[in-house]
Amino acid sequence: MALPIAEEYGGAAVPILVNGMVLEMISRADTSLMTILGLQSGTAGDIQKFGSEELKRTWLPRFTSGEVQGCMDLTEPQAGSDLGQISTRATDLPDGTIRVDGQKIFITNGGAEVHLVLARDADTFESSRGTTNGLSLVLVPRHRPDGTPNGVRVPRLERKLGIHGSPTCEVLFEGAIGTRLGEKGKGFRAMLELMNNARLGVAAQALGLAEAAFHEAAVYANQREQFGKPVAQQPLVQSMLAKMAVNIEAARALLYRAFELYDYTLAAGAWLAAGRGSPTERAEVAARLEREQVRVRLLTPLCKYYATEICSDVTRDAVQVFGGIGYTMDVDAAKLHADSLIMTIYEGTSEIQASFALREMGKGALGTVFAEARRELEAMKEDPRRSALAKHVEEEIPRIEHAIKVLFGDIAYALLRAKLLAEMVIDVLSATELLRQVGADPTRLDLAESYVRRRMLQVELGARRIEQNHEGRMDRDAHILEVFGASAVPEKA
Ligand SMILES: Cc1cc2nc3c(=O)[nH]c(=O)nc-3n(C[C@H](O)[C@H](O)[C@H](O)COP(=O)(O)OP(=O)(O)OC[C@H]3O[C@@H](n4cnc5c(N)ncnc54)[C@H](O)[C@@H]3O)c2cc1C
Repeated sequence: MALPIAEEYGGAAVPILVNGMVLEMISRADTSLMTILGLQSGTAGDIQKFGSEELKRTWLPRFTSGEVQGCMDLTEPQAGSDLGQISTRATDLPDGTIRVDGQKIFITNGGAEVHLVLARDADTFESSRGTTNGLSLVLVPRHRPDGTPNGVRVPRLERKLGIHGSPTCEVLFEGAIGTRLGEKGKGFRAMLELMNNARLGVAAQALGLAEAAFHEAAVYANQREQFGKPVAQQPLVQSMLAKMAVNIEAARALLYRAFELYDYTLAAGAWLAAGRGSPTERAEVAARLEREQVRVRLLTPLCKYYATEICSDVTRDAVQVFGGIGYTMDVDAAKLHADSLIMTIYEGTSEIQASFALREMGKGALGTVFAEARRELEAMKEDPRRSALAKHVEEEIPRIEHAIKVLFGDIAYALLRAKLLAEMVIDVLSATELLRQVGADPTRLDLAESYVRRRMLQVELGARRIEQNHEGRMDRDAHILEVFGASAVPEKA
């Protein structure tokens, strides 16, 4: 359990990339189980990063051995996407511990022993309300050291559409005693670390699930005969299956790149902190570290957005490939689709991922990311198999850069187009990754070509939609809703 944790605490110290691959495989077998296992690396990782040595020695060996499990407690009835609304209270006690009171909902694995709770500091409660300042991350065990209950209760479990093997709990904290992780009032930043990690984890989970659905559908389509041949040989079914495979590979290519960059930032950060290297080497590593951190901050929401959205599409297409039996519970297709629908919601919805990505682009991250993509595409032009495709992808970059100028002139319009823009950037970056893979494995050329031909048209179309549809778009949307009586909360009968 919690494979990336350091060996001195019983972990395997595996890179985040390897952990992501393991989680993807587990999700392919059972996506509910993956939620439990995935949470363990995240919660233990936050304790390792922000906990005192005593806390680490107390908890981490118990995590890595599987003796205890953890969960993360953020969401409250009034605080979903907007965590600034959190009102669970963290009160400092004279002995240095923290008393936690409040209600959390939708907590995966909420019956776990260790809760990482995001709560508002009592002494700045009113002044920080409505913001993500003044929050602390508190480690709250379900039991006190003497084994007595610690005021943590699970009054109910949610009844859900899917992931039935993953308990989703309401959790009440009633005078529970815990320990702060990291600095007082800076809990949101500490939790962001956990959330970003978890977002890449959910992307891996989505890929594993999509892979399972694709394989089920492919096996069935090759066996099921209609009109005297397997349905897989019908061009419409064949192209559906091929599109599933290409989208999974594109999302995987982007995700593995994000994991790789994330691992680099961890390794480089540790190397610098250990005071190693000459001043010149240190300056070089520090500059690269800064660059890769910018890329990771943009790629993380893009990966979560893309992998989870394609997972919904792939599992839905799998139901379609199965035909009528796909809608029954005799095969797994419908179950996998039901399981997939949560992925675009938890760990921040797709809309929130797109707006996070937009914010990073507003800070200039796209310049760094595109500079690297351009460098790689340029190098591919030397290879006759890839040169035309690489040129095609490179030509789309200025379209996005131009569209962004239109968007950043009107921030409300930019928010409206955040998903479209995210998809355009994903298309260019994933195409670059798939073409890069052809260098190592020429059999992937068809896959890369299929993606480039299909998706670059979408980028072109997206740029035109952004530029041409600007005037009056939001007023039209508002007017449509008004006409259909959907612009305000309907009065109760
Ligand atoms: C099965 C399950 C497991 C979960 N596990 C956990 C867990 O372990 N820990 C935990 O803390 N939470 C957990 N959650 C909660 C989950 O993270 C939230 O449900 C999610 O973040 C969305 O919040 P919400 O449900 O309040 O939706 P809301 O925030 O009310 O959003 C409603 C809609 O409005 C959109 N929206 C909201 N704000 C914006 C915006 N600024 N821009 C554009 N669109 C916006 C959303 O995208 C969504 O479409 C879980 C939820 C479920 C269902």
